Amino acid sequence: MNIILLGPPGAGKGTQSAGLVERHGMRQLSTGDMLRAAVKAETPVGLEAKAVMDRGELVSDAIVSALIDDNLAAMDAQTGAIFDGYPRTAAQADDLDRILARHGRSLDHVIELEVDVDALVERITGRFSCANCGALYHDTANPPAKPGVCDTCGSTEFKRRPDDNEETVRTRMEEYRAKTAPILPGYEARGIVTRVDGMASIDDVAGAIDAILA
Ligand code: AMP
Repeated sequence: MNIILLGPPGAGKGTQSAGLVERHGMRQLSTGDMLRAAVKAETPVGLEAKAVMDRGELVSDAIVSALIDDNLAAMDAQTGAIFDGYPRTAAQADDLDRILARHGRSLDHVIELEVDVDALVERITGRFSCANCGALYHDTANPPAKPGVCDTCGSTEFKRRPDDNEETVRTRMEEYRAKTAPILPGYEARGIVTRVDGMASIDDVAGAIDAILA
C-alpha cells in the first residue's frame, strides 16, 4: 500500500502518519523531516535547504525527489509507504510516478485532509514536539497528559520548529495554494483521491483514514 497524505501545513499529516506507522506498520516518508535532519547534520543538502525552509518556500524538486528515491530504495518491498509533505509540485508528482514504478510500486490512495485555513495558523503556532522521541503535541488541542512531561518517553525537553511562526506559515500556505493544490486534479482523474474532514478529532480522522485503507 502506497498513499499520499495531502493538505496544507497544519492539516495533520504528521500526526496521522505517526498513527498509521503505529497501527499498520507502514513507513512515513516525510521530506520535511528528512530536510530537518539534513539541516541538523549540516550536510550539503541541509546547508542549501536551510534558508529556503526558514522563509517557508519550497526546496528544489531535484533535492526532495532524490531523498524520496533513496529512502524507498532502502525499504523492503512489502512495507507500505506514506508520503507526507511530498509531492508538493507538479514536477514532484511526475517524479513520484517514475520513482514508484522503478521500485515496483504504485499509488493506491491520495488522502486530502480538508481544513479551515483560518484555523491553521493557530494550529501551527501552538504545536511542539518532544526533543527526545519526536512525539507531537499542541498547546491546547493535544497537550501532554502531565504538563511538561512527554507521554511517550517521559522526557521534559520539548522543541518548536523555527518555521512555525505566523509570517512563515503564511508563505507556506501560499506555496500550498499556488503549487501543491494544483496537483490534485491529476490524481482525481485517476480516481484515487478521497477527502477527509481534517478539522475532526485526531481519532476521528484516523478512523476515516483506516476506512479508506480497509
Ligand atoms: P513540512 O515539514 O512538510 O511542513 O516541510 C517543512 C519545509 O521543508 C517546507 O516549508 C519546505 O521548505 C521544505 N519541504 C518539505 N517537503 C518539501 C517538498 N516536497 N518540496 C519542497 N520543499 C519541501
